[in-house]
Amino acid sequence: MQKDSFPLDASAPFFEYFFKNSKKNAIAIMDKDGFILRINEVFMHYFGYPPEHLVGRHFNILYTEEDRKTSLPEREIINVKEQGFSFDNNYILHKNGSRLWVSGESVLVKDEDNIFIVKIIQNINDQKNLEEFLLESNDFVENIFHHIKDFIVVINPEMRILKINHSFLDHLGLNKGKVEGKNLSQILNASQYQQLFDMIARVREGEVFSSIEFKLQIPGGAEHIYLLSAILMNKYQKEEKRILLILHDVTSEKMMDDQREEVIGFVSHELKNPLTSISLYAELVRDQLENGQKKVLMPLEKIIANVGYVQTIIDDLYDISKAGAGHLKIKKENFVFEEAVSDALNTFEISHPGYRIKRKGRANVEILGDRLRLAQVLTNYFNNAVKYAPDAHEIILDIKLRDGEINVGITDFGIGISEEKMPYVFNKYYRVGKLLKAEGTGLGLYVVKKIITAHQGKVWAESEEGKGSTFYFSLPARPLKS
Ligand code: ADP
Repeated sequence: MQKDSFPLDASAPFFEYFFKNSKKNAIAIMDKDGFILRINEVFMHYFGYPPEHLVGRHFNILYTEEDRKTSLPEREIINVKEQGFSFDNNYILHKNGSRLWVSGESVLVKDEDNIFIVKIIQNINDQKNLEEFLLESNDFVENIFHHIKDFIVVINPEMRILKINHSFLDHLGLNKGKVEGKNLSQILNASQYQQLFDMIARVREGEVFSSIEFKLQIPGGAEHIYLLSAILMNKYQKEEKRILLILHDVTSEKMMDDQREEVIGFVSHELKNPLTSISLYAELVRDQLENGQKKVLMPLEKIIANVGYVQTIIDDLYDISKAGAGHLKIKKENFVFEEAVSDALNTFEISHPGYRIKRKGRANVEILGDRLRLAQVLTNYFNNAVKYAPDAHEIILDIKLRDGEINVGITDFGIGISEEKMPYVFNKYYRVGKLLKAEGTGLGLYVVKKIITAHQGKVWAESEEGKGSTFYFSLPARPLKS
């Protein structure tokens, strides 16, 4: 074997070549006590020192004050001397005082007369910074994961729990060790498991579920209601798929909603009969009045109109309480949809003699559903088309028949609805601009949506503020048998 020779000697051309041409390795050559003899270009470049600042100085000036206090550089020298080498993974100071993460090793090199230490260092500052950033990000996400009020579970496609947050564990009264790694079948009852299993089968195919009602019996017996969302986390990666489940507990909101609807249902039900009587008697009195008795007739007409208005509010409230509790009664009978259209048009003509409804298309299809309720939907759209278009006297009713579907649009030329308000118009109690003169409860469209979805149909609207709106619904329909 070739004899080790002094590395600075021209007789060690390979080392010299490496020392000078290395692009990534910073090299410092020191005497046996750690005083620097030479540094290469990479060293200067990494740490900002010109050779004259380092040569002749102890290498401990490259260390941070904390490291110097714990005699880290001296211990390194002892290690190298005793073992012939020492590994290093810590900070080195740049000339400007900033810290750089480095990784490297020091080796003892001997020749006949001298002992040297060669320190070879790689700058891993970028990796370290990235590592720290990732750790911090992970910490941040973990903190949110565990402390967010919503319940979060990550499972694999076989329904095994991979991760569960503290909030959910507390809620279930379970501890992490008992749950993680278990299959959901060991925690849920059979029907809950089946419901989730069917959903997960679809999530695996990439379907996203958002705010699906899900019930769970928690220890202690109470049943909670959640809005469950499920999403496939690593859709495009080959590794084992993970599914994120988020449960938002709505039990108390639901209870309050149910109670409110129960009260509304009771009150509106109790008001219906006396109101109908008042309205009938007032109409009776009006019909019996002589033509000349104008002084009485006028206030009586006002009473009748106002009672009519209160009746529609009560009807809406009553429907709401039924719809909220899931009891909105929908008859399922086959009828020709044109009949419901005629019902609504007749009602409209009587109540709005000054208006014209321009028709396009006929509804000659068979529907399985509730004729009265569907006429109510049309009436609601018509009434809004009048209420929110006070200066226009034309409404367009456009009916289109598609494959297995009827599509109805009612267009007005009124105030319209802005783009940002549009997503909310079918929500319960929502009214665009509370200061609007038009009377209303913000319930009509909500009831419409309930009726149409109970018929497996869809509702939507298009509008341009200041120009007008078109409110639509579509329903499954069959062509008439000829
Ligand atoms: P209400 O008319 O009793 O307020 P609705 O549920 O029928 O309640 O309608 C909700 C809101 O949607 C209304 O308050 C109104 O702001 C808006 N809206 C409904 N129909 C129209 C329409 N044709 N044009 C403009 N705005 C409308």
